[in-house]
Amino acid sequence: MLGPPGAGKGTQAERFGRRWEIPKISTGEILRDAVNAGTGLGLRAKAVMARGKLVGDDVMIEIVRERLERPDALGGFILDGFPRTVAQANALDAIMEGRDPLIVVDIAVDDAELIRRLGSRTICEDCGAGDDAEEVISAPESAAAVAGQTEPLRCRRCGGRLVQRTDDNAEVVRERLKVYHRETEPLVEYYHLRPTFRSIDGAQPPDRVADDLAAAIESVGKGLRAGNAAPGGARR
Ligand code: AMP
Repeated sequence: MLGPPGAGKGTQAERFGRRWEIPKISTGEILRDAVNAGTGLGLRAKAVMARGKLVGDDVMIEIVRERLERPDALGGFILDGFPRTVAQANALDAIMEGRDPLIVVDIAVDDAELIRRLGSRTICEDCGAGDDAEEVISAPESAAAVAGQTEPLRCRRCGGRLVQRTDDNAEVVRERLKVYHRETEPLVEYYHLRPTFRSIDGAQPPDRVADDLAAAIESVGKGLRAGNAAPGGARR
């Protein structure tokens, strides 16, 4: 899944993965878990992420290569946040040799809308769940809020406190969008001539985006079944 930060890739990947019982593999989440666990990877990635920059290609490619080889990913997976550079896309093509074709869906949203969304989104500080409606229990539902006290929003999954991601503050968001336009947006050009590429409008409500995503993937599947795209994905 391609798209800028805040396009809804994580939310859509989560929903799609759950619906089709395939793992959602989010490189941002893998890195945030490593930071929270204080592993060597986490220590190296923390400062880079806090500045809105990209973690090095070699590190990211090895993480994804290893993850895609695990048994649960052999029957399919949905990738959120990878690839983010042409070098990563090249490596992913190599990893996918001999496997089912890669379907690439770009979720397009303009910068003004992304800035608005990133300024207000939250994440659970305990389990890392995003703030899509299914995960959040709103303040009025809590006993304390009913009694007139203000309570932080809580995660529906684990009850943890919902907080802003440290890289969602205005200054870092500006940098992340700059990095997106420079490093990741060229991937639309990289993939767009493949018969397995689709672009959908991410500025719609999440349910509509989910419908469009499912329809896009179904239409690629139909094309593949009709023999319009060679296994492995037609390459330019
Ligand atoms: P995300 O949750 O996808 O917005 O990712 C959060 C941060 O993790 C990014 O701003 C990067 O610093 C880092 N990151 C995630 N995925 C990648 C990747 N594929 N390549 C490089 N850095 C990444």
